[in-house]
Amino acid sequence: MSEKNYQETRKCEVCGEIKPVADFSKSYRNRCKPCVAEMCRNERKSHNNLIEEKTSTMKWQTLNLTDALIGMHVLVKGYNRITSKEFFAVGYIDKYSNQFALLREEDKELNYIESVRLFSRSCSYWYINIDEIEE
Ligand SMILES: [Zn+2]
Repeated sequence: MSEKNYQETRKCEVCGEIKPVADFSKSYRNRCKPCVAEMCRNERKSHNNLIEEKTSTMKWQTLNLTDALIGMHVLVKGYNRITSKEFFAVGYIDKYSNQFALLREEDKELNYIESVRLFSRSCSYWYINIDEIEE
């Protein structure tokens, strides 16, 4: 028997298909990669739906980045026009190297600026001022 014909296989606990071990996720050893990808997509979707639901009575405002917004504590909704993906983030608007960025809450407390997320030109953004909600 040639080595090529021998492949270790495993059965996926989600779809039940028997596939080569290389097609399995490293984090979920008994789930194949497509099933794990699907699971992550669904989790993201339900997480996004939950935020949509909780914020449904609030008014999202278009985020026009100006210096006046620096320091504002916001919930941001982003839409990537290239990948058609929607996402949410919470943080403080700030500026780094002349570019607008969102600084995570936990990093702001530590005065830690390594993990800023720059606002991207390929995305559209909306925001809700969190401090206004809490008042
Ligand atoms: Zn599977």
